[in-house]
Amino acid sequence: MKNVLTIAGSDCSGGAGIQADLKTFAAHGVYGMSVIVSVVAENTCRVISIKDIPPKSIADQIDAVFEDIRVDGVKIGMLSNKEQMKTVADKLLQYRPRGVVLDPVMVAKGGCALMHPEALETLKKEMLPRAFLITPNIPEAEALTGMKIETAEEMKQAAALLLKMGTQNVLIKGGHLSGDAVDILYDGKEFSAFTAERIQTKNTHGTGCTLSSAIAANLANGMGTADAVKAAKEYVTTAIRHALPIGKGHGPTNHF
Ligand code: PLP
Repeated sequence: MKNVLTIAGSDCSGGAGIQADLKTFAAHGVYGMSVIVSVVAENTCRVISIKDIPPKSIADQIDAVFEDIRVDGVKIGMLSNKEQMKTVADKLLQYRPRGVVLDPVMVAKGGCALMHPEALETLKKEMLPRAFLITPNIPEAEALTGMKIETAEEMKQAAALLLKMGTQNVLIKGGHLSGDAVDILYDGKEFSAFTAERIQTKNTHGTGCTLSSAIAANLANGMGTADAVKAAKEYVTTAIRHALPIGKGHGPTNHF
């Protein structure tokens, strides 16, 4: 069995963050481990508060995992501030795990910032070069590149810019554009498009977390990058189709 680690924030309502990641890992038959960087008091409607875990505790959690257990893949989600990013980046340099999938989480669906805006430059300089694959949505790709992205062609231009920042592969998720949900993968040589029909539902809490975790699990299980993305996209599409009407707001994706 492969062992996959998530480094991310905790969503007490169980739909996003660490909780979505661990459910996704279990559904993919990999052993899930977690380093918690922030405790987010949130539900399907709103974020109440965010308690950032101090960098020393994050470093200790990462050491605890790596000094004892073989790590076959890593997913990184919410990183709240510069200090957390520097800590995680240093540990990635120290342990050099394979298959790091970085979801550059910035804002929750309800509009609450999960990353301090002044950490953007640190995210670019310290985290992007440590990632095998990054999975920004359109607003995140716009923030990282400074571009306005409204077409598939602009998604490709943004992916090329992001690759120059040091990551090995870029998957820009097109769900924020209208029509089918088309994601573009760029590996520095070719572009691949992954299309899924748009599902009409308000229950989409945790979709980004689920997709990036599924990719990390698929990579750890030995799939090539494009196959890992294709299978993960199919997984998240099914998870949205069967999303649970839990809570009063955006219900969570469902894991099989
Ligand atoms: N809460 C945490 C802890 C997260 O890591 C994320 C990740 O994107 C979210 C919330 C976002 O949730 P939503 O899918 O509702 O935007």
